[in-house]
Amino acid sequence: MDRYAVLGNPINHSRSPFIHTMFAESTAQNMEYGRLFCPLGEFVKTVDDFRANGGKGLNITVPFKEQAHAYATMLSDRARRAGAVNTLKFNDDGTVYGDNTDGAGFIFDIKRAGWDFTGRRILVLGAGGASRGILGGILDEKPLSVLLVNRTVEKAVVLQQEFGGIEVCSFEDLNCRSDRFEFIINATSLSLNSKLPAIADGLYKDARVYDLMYGSSSSTVFTEHAVKCGAEEAMDGLGMLVGQAAVSFEIWRGVTPEPQPVLDALRQQL
Ligand code: NDP
Repeated sequence: MDRYAVLGNPINHSRSPFIHTMFAESTAQNMEYGRLFCPLGEFVKTVDDFRANGGKGLNITVPFKEQAHAYATMLSDRARRAGAVNTLKFNDDGTVYGDNTDGAGFIFDIKRAGWDFTGRRILVLGAGGASRGILGGILDEKPLSVLLVNRTVEKAVVLQQEFGGIEVCSFEDLNCRSDRFEFIINATSLSLNSKLPAIADGLYKDARVYDLMYGSSSSTVFTEHAVKCGAEEAMDGLGMLVGQAAVSFEIWRGVTPEPQPVLDALRQQL
């Protein structure tokens, strides 16, 4: 049986085994998918051992996405652009294909909701790994403008230089401007600590907002606050999680699983 796993540190919380096991059942694939704990500093050894034991592919999560990027011998354009890999495929000829499906998962989810970024003004909060993963996908949708705001502005400037086509500023500067946005995407980790980004409440009015975080309910502190302030629609990041997994599954198995039943089951389970 072909073996796959999600590798990270910590890894016990990961929902990926649940998602991929459902995908495998629904597409009749003979495979197993588990969790692989990787000690810090032992990424290469852990992956080499997994491959030596017949592993066919891995999902990579925090904090190893950059190391996976370095491990791959072939990279997709989007992985090269993101500088991070969340999917490794081990080919029979010994080559290792690295891809980044986070952006595709995000775009899958916003399209599922019927959202269209084309010609729209997008505000992205946060310039960490998740932001790096989704910026390429956002730009590919040809928005009118993308403003990237981060507490540490230098990190946003690095992404601006790497991706091009985006403007950057600090939270303080954002609050001095009179810009309006059709979409506000929270790619900071603030919701994990039940905190809100320091943006003016008026910005939420009539906007559609997306929080990359997901948890046990379908709302987050960010989406709840945005709705209170007049946001038209608000979504959490669970659909992105399932969407990125579906693209990884397709890379490994060559079949496209149906994400919606898995998303429904996952939502019930949380
Ligand atoms: P990182 O640690 O790489 O980045 C964290 C970001 O949050 C940085 O921009 C950081 O700013 C900002 N931040 C943290 N604390 C504060 C604060 N007190 N005030 C202002 N800004 C702050 O995390 P990731 O990018 O990997 O993850 C971000 C979120 O995305 C998490 O909630 C994660 O769960 C979610 N995620 C969801 C996925 C999905 O499939 N739905 C996939 C990947 C991530 P600074 O640079 O200044 O430190």
